[in-house]
Amino acid sequence: MTKETTPVDSPVERAILVGVHLKGSETAWDLADSLVELAELARTAGLEVVGTASQQLDKPRPTHFIGKGKVQEIKDLRHDTPYDMVIFDDELSPSQLRNLERDLDTKILDRTALILDIFAQRARTKEGALQVELAQYEYRLPRLTRAWVHLSRQAGGSATRGGAGVGLRGPGETQLEVDRRQIRSRIAYLKRELEEVRTHRRLHRQRRQRQGAPVVAIVGYTNAGKSTLLNALTNADVLVEDKLFATLDPTTRRVVLPGGQEILLSDTVGFIQKLPPELVASFRATLEEVIEADVILHVVDVTHPKALAQSQTVGQVLHDLGVVDTPMVTALNKIDRLVPDDLAEAAAQAQAVDLYHELQAVSRTTIPISALRGWGLERLMETISDVLLSDMVRLDVVIPFQSGELVSLFHQRGIVDHEEYTEQGTRLLGHMPRQYAPRYRALTS
Ligand code: GDP
Ligand code: MG
Repeated sequence: MTKETTPVDSPVERAILVGVHLKGSETAWDLADSLVELAELARTAGLEVVGTASQQLDKPRPTHFIGKGKVQEIKDLRHDTPYDMVIFDDELSPSQLRNLERDLDTKILDRTALILDIFAQRARTKEGALQVELAQYEYRLPRLTRAWVHLSRQAGGSATRGGAGVGLRGPGETQLEVDRRQIRSRIAYLKRELEEVRTHRRLHRQRRQRQGAPVVAIVGYTNAGKSTLLNALTNADVLVEDKLFATLDPTTRRVVLPGGQEILLSDTVGFIQKLPPELVASFRATLEEVIEADVILHVVDVTHPKALAQSQTVGQVLHDLGVVDTPMVTALNKIDRLVPDDLAEAAAQAQAVDLYHELQAVSRTTIPISALRGWGLERLMETISDVLLSDMVRLDVVIPFQSGELVSLFHQRGIVDHEEYTEQGTRLLGHMPRQYAPRYRALTS
């Protein structure tokens, strides 16, 4: 596992991007958008994009993913436009990867490998680092060929791990040179380590749940402004960057809502389209915050031309994670960019307010904000508070004296309307968050 980026003196690697439009597979994303995003990913990985190629196909070709003619075209391109690698927008099978590598005689990456490379550069916690390393080995194991190792040595140029090029960072080169058996044992080791870290985290979370603060998980497409929002709400110094996936590990901060209630606000990894399901699964532990959240705070960059498609992708990933019933509040972010800079601040505010009222009509829980300028944050917090309240259930219970902790919990987390002492224990009447209700119902039956 290495966190260094490419040394300053090494030249920037040049990439050609390749996308395929499959006829009949209509999604909210078209090929052009997907390639723009791939270019953005490449830039984030520190590459220079020098060209793009695309093709319309009925279905991917089994041997090279693209047609033979297209392969030749990309090969010929190299005379006029030198490049160091070709990046495919879709995941390649191990044999497609081998064939392309051989026939194009260059390094081949696919979207998955590129995303993994970015993850490897950005993991900051032990758990994040373990997850990425495991995902990288699992991705590489079936793809590890002699040619590939040979190329990786070439691309590395030196024996230092930092010298490995994009797509080859992460597990160091020396580790790539070991045989499959050793990689398998490494995978087994990583899985054990991860299990340990996760058990530890689970204990932490249980302790936190006993303290009773509800968890609000910030989700959203990558670059939507999640970390900026967390910073704005908490003054936490969370890495904010105009790059994809600046945040890989969840960061949790305590925030006090306008009504005085404390919540735990958690920043998570950004979602992205064509994130392979295995990859989502490997980040499941990180996403446990999302799975177990009381409220999902979905941040959308409304100024992005594909804002709608991005939110649909986020919805799909949530659905795949089994998050279907959790109440959601949507923050339409970056509204400051919707008003021209040269307008007086007042006019800008007024426009933002207009827009705000317009959007209010759409949904009670959709709030326009600017995380950067701090607009709409109070309203956002109030809405979260409302949603948490509306998720409460009415309880009328008698708590035996030996279960005093349930009385304290009710006071801490709930709203007590009436309290009296009876022979059987403390009678409490009021509201509690739905998640705690079973513990109290168990008392009455
Ligand atoms: P994340 O990937 O969702 O965590 O996004 P970040 O918080 O890292 O923000 C991505 C980029 O969008 C950064 O350059 C931020 O400065 C910018 N950004 C975030 N919120 C706003 C906003 O309200 N207005 C504007 N103009 N830019 C924003
Ligand atoms: Mg972030």
